[in-house]
Amino acid sequence: MIRIPRNHTVYSFSRRHPARYRARPGDSVVFETLDALGGQIVDEATPIESIDWSRVNPATGPLYVEGAEAGDTLVVEIESIEVSDRGVIVVAPGFGALHDRSFRPRAKVVWVKNGRLLFNDIEIGVKPMIGVIGVAPEDGDIPTGTSGYHGGNMDVNLITAGSKVYLPVFVEGALVAIGDLHAVQADGELCVAAVEVSGEIQVKIGLIKGRRPHYPIVETLDRYAIITFGRDLDEAVYRASEEAVSILSRAFNAPFEEAYMLSSLLVDVRINQVVDPVKGVRAEIPKKYVRLDHLLYP
Ligand code: CA
Repeated sequence: MIRIPRNHTVYSFSRRHPARYRARPGDSVVFETLDALGGQIVDEATPIESIDWSRVNPATGPLYVEGAEAGDTLVVEIESIEVSDRGVIVVAPGFGALHDRSFRPRAKVVWVKNGRLLFNDIEIGVKPMIGVIGVAPEDGDIPTGTSGYHGGNMDVNLITAGSKVYLPVFVEGALVAIGDLHAVQADGELCVAAVEVSGEIQVKIGLIKGRRPHYPIVETLDRYAIITFGRDLDEAVYRASEEAVSILSRAFNAPFEEAYMLSSLLVDVRINQVVDPVKGVRAEIPKKYVRLDHLLYP
């Protein structure tokens, strides 16, 4: 089993990052990850002002995938996620959906035990998920704190054990990196943080040659979710709608007008997060109506 230690981190997705770890399609790989704050909040007394922002959003990797080339699809099947028992949530003025409000910066430590956590005396079920997962873009360095066609800080709570993530490959080896585990996060991630935890993620690497999706895709038991982004939610929703209609049109060999009608009946548009540098939404299409084939392009 290939295991990438949590000190092997990057803070951007880029073809310039050397890959010390390599895997072949079919291999399982364990990514050990730090929490999104780089482990800097040690207790509730740690001042938020003391955070070194250059150490925020570490992603473990990159991993070089043998045989991956531009135009392919990297398949990352999430086999299991183990989270540490200590999680941290932060709030600070200037961040989150209510960024204009004045309030005290604060960190809260919560303990995860037997699949549950306690926030004061409120019991909340744990559903571990991956916040950051992406590949190197064609050019440039994209910080791990944001998202785009390459994936990145998507903060999609569907990216959990049992789901598959399909990422378009832009460079040889794909150069995938993963981080930012959340013990639980609701759609929106309103306060800017979720329950940020370190942990271990075991994935199985797959590769589809010669075709790729326009946007990252998450496959769950019964749905395909197309993950889009935008400067604001309107732009993200526009992209999600445009892609969903195009997929329905291919799936049913339907003219635009009918695929557009069907999108109102079959596609759920949901919010991933409203707090990162670009906002994220997803268009969910039931697998009953489309095949993976309809989501990939030559
Ligand atoms: Ca995140």
